[in-house]
Amino acid sequence: MISISKLKFIDKFREVENLEIIENKSDVKRLSKDFYNYSPILTEKLDECIADLVVRPSDHKAVKEVAEICWELSIPLTLRGSGTGNYGQAVPLFKGVVMQMSQFNKLEEFDPSTGFVKVQSGCVMGDLNKQLEKYGRELRLLPSTWKTATIGGFIAGGSGGIGSIRWGFLRDPGNLIGLEAVTMNEKPALLKFDAEESEPLNHAYGTNGIITSLLLATDIKRKWYSLVIDCIEFEKTIEILKTLTSAAINLKLGAILEEEIVDQMPKWFKSKSRSHKVLIQSTFGGIKTIELICKKFKVESTLLGEEEKLVNGISEVVWNHTTLHMRSRDKNWTYLQMLLPLNNEIELINFLRKKWGKKVLWHLEAVSQQGSPRLAALPVLKWNGAEELNEIMEDCKKLGAFIFNPHVLTVEGGGLGVVDADQVKAKLRFDPKGLLNPGKLEGWEVKEQFKI
Ligand SMILES: Cc1cc2nc3c(=O)[nH]c(=O)nc-3n(C[C@H](O)[C@H](O)[C@H](O)COP(=O)(O)OP(=O)(O)OC[C@H]3O[C@@H](n4cnc5c(N)ncnc54)[C@H](O)[C@@H]3O)c2cc1C
Repeated sequence: MISISKLKFIDKFREVENLEIIENKSDVKRLSKDFYNYSPILTEKLDECIADLVVRPSDHKAVKEVAEICWELSIPLTLRGSGTGNYGQAVPLFKGVVMQMSQFNKLEEFDPSTGFVKVQSGCVMGDLNKQLEKYGRELRLLPSTWKTATIGGFIAGGSGGIGSIRWGFLRDPGNLIGLEAVTMNEKPALLKFDAEESEPLNHAYGTNGIITSLLLATDIKRKWYSLVIDCIEFEKTIEILKTLTSAAINLKLGAILEEEIVDQMPKWFKSKSRSHKVLIQSTFGGIKTIELICKKFKVESTLLGEEEKLVNGISEVVWNHTTLHMRSRDKNWTYLQMLLPLNNEIELINFLRKKWGKKVLWHLEAVSQQGSPRLAALPVLKWNGAEELNEIMEDCKKLGAFIFNPHVLTVEGGGLGVVDADQVKAKLRFDPKGLLNPGKLEGWEVKEQFKI
């Protein structure tokens, strides 16, 4: 519990100009949550974690003043974009203040010579993409939540998604060019960071700086066409996807859904033929090549049309939206995230199928890892306790998969599993009291007075 009187601290925030204050209990509760309920483990840990107050600043001065008050009274401050994270990234473990950045939503600059866009952190990615259209550009990477999620939340809490087949992951060099952030010091300052200096703040869950704007590389805006390939044998879907990712065509997305997953997708997506599906987004120029490859594999493909013009596009059944649809049928589905072993994917999948049967259903995504095509997987699992989940993860690891565990709360636990010294150094410089989103960075010990 925070050792100061609640009244005293709310009064301080009331004096800040251009700051919306949300005190209503049900709103504060709603704005203290994200999509952590995809994990039964996190649900147990986080259901009681609710902020004391939510604030929404609309200028830099208000952000700095919020930070100053939090510093003065030693109140934890947790940043929030739209709260679509899956691992409780935006949940305030030690109560305090949640600051939602949704009023920071402007496209500030576009540089036609580089294609770099400077945008405020609370801008929703769907809106940003719309604004980029007039420059003939689009975002390189999108989570499947792009219609509601913010760009700041994606950088601070996400990893990749639609576009990762070409552009890899958010932390790959070249995607984030720079950022601006307010520090959590006695006198909070707005600092500018170049690409190298931004690295420790990229995917740090807002534990080492309040990001106010980002400088991002963008791609040429293309018309993406969506195509579905039907395939009876699962092994063949992998061969087809690998053939497509190494063909000389533009791709935005390449995913595989096992037949039992397809069965539980929304009605509009299901086809009459029962089969596994390969989902592809490519430019019109790539379609002929894809059809030729399908002919060689003796499989049928259906061109759905231009993704943006479809009432329901395939972007809505990929990445974690697959899990979303499964869970809307049965809340006992949960999931895992992993990079599959290079050229050993099918051995791993066959082993797990034999051992776990239909308790583990396969959803694969093609990604680029350090410039090379690779398959990631977001299998959905029937929840049967933490012990079974751990055994499934151990099986995957033994067979060469690299797990990004979505059932843990820390940056390190959900990432490479090791403390990133640069992230900790940045925290020491920009949040020396450890007030920003406490409890999410393993490399930083949480002070006693914040223990729940
Ligand atoms: C159905 C579903 C599908 C998803 N698909 C994907 C996917 O394809 N790829 C993917 O990577 N993720 C995915 N996610 C996770 C999530 O939607 C994305 O990461 C999204 O970009 C988060 O944005 P947000 O605005 O909701 O951030 P929030 O959830 O509000 O915040 C995420 C993290 O960023 C921090 N943060 C927010 N704003 C700031 C700021 N201004 N400064 C510093 N820190 C900040 C928060 O404290 C938190 O730690 C999915 C989630 C769901 C529920």
